Amino acid sequence: MSRSSAGPEEIATAIHRLREGRLVAFPTETVYGLGANAFDADAVARVFELKGRPANNPLIVHVSGLAMARACVTAWPDRADVLAREFWPGPLSIVLPKSDRVPSNVTAGGPNVAVRCPDHPLTLALLEAFGSPLVGPSANLSGAVSPTTAEHVRESFTEEEVYILDGGPCIGGIESTVISLAGPTPVELRPGLITPEQIEAIIGVRPARLVRDGRSSPATPLPSPGLLARHYAPRTPAVLVDAPGLAQAIARAPGPAVILTHEPIAVGGPHRVERLPTDARAYASEIYSALRRADASGAAQIIIRRPPQGGPDGEIWAAILDRLSRAAAPA
Ligand code: AMP
Ligand code: MG
Repeated sequence: MSRSSAGPEEIATAIHRLREGRLVAFPTETVYGLGANAFDADAVARVFELKGRPANNPLIVHVSGLAMARACVTAWPDRADVLAREFWPGPLSIVLPKSDRVPSNVTAGGPNVAVRCPDHPLTLALLEAFGSPLVGPSANLSGAVSPTTAEHVRESFTEEEVYILDGGPCIGGIESTVISLAGPTPVELRPGLITPEQIEAIIGVRPARLVRDGRSSPATPLPSPGLLARHYAPRTPAVLVDAPGLAQAIARAPGPAVILTHEPIAVGGPHRVERLPTDARAYASEIYSALRRADASGAAQIIIRRPPQGGPDGEIWAAILDRLSRAAAPA
């Protein structure tokens, strides 16, 4: 139902709202963002309030390009420059020491800010016309499944709360890779569609992975806020199971279940199968919509077949698994 309909008139309305310190949802290549003027602490506070977002979870700042990014930070190292030139516009957020122009609520009180240039013509036009950066966490209530269509955003917020720029469905489907260049060694804070391998090919070092489940990490990790165990989660209880455990999980389901799987399976009884693509990028693009449909179906449980591991797309599958593990984490 989502259609690419917004144009110059809608952009003008959006800018009017942003100048009033109000919120505008914008499309990106990853998920829809909940935008507010990043240099306006009151507008930023509204984002936290409306999402019910914990104050210790920092926001990514969206920019139209290198010049706007540099206004947000105090240093722009060569590594940031080459990564931005290679991957922007695109799903890579770069964390660097914040400049004084960025209010402290954007960074959850921390010294560093995440910046990225999103790859969507409508949002690039919005950022250019607004002339200033926009914070953009995902446009959903905190902890819930991220929105990949304008309709998803409409399910969470009223028109009065959030003006929505409809740019059609998001093609990437999972949030940006977040890499910190604030310390001596690059650290991947959140996996995404830009892989450590791709980053290494540009800067010559493989970012250390911040292991976010409390176990040890390859490098001294930055104490990064916003790494919640349960996130991206449907309201319906979800479980993540290996292929061998699938039959047993289905047999034990507390009622009609929706089974999300990339491999065909035959299921009888009241259960329903939602087939996802076997290609990692196509899977990423559809996973949040599938979770939302499963949630809306009234099922008693969502059973997610663990996606493949390793192989040429191993790092993409790992980014997907990161989201699925959090979606299925106990409440
Ligand atoms: P979202 O609300 O889905 O856009 O999530 C934004 C995520 O980006 C946060 O939860 C953090 O994982 C990461 N992030 C944003 N800003 C920072 C920062 N200054 N330092 C570390 N991580 C950040
Ligand atoms: Mg989010």
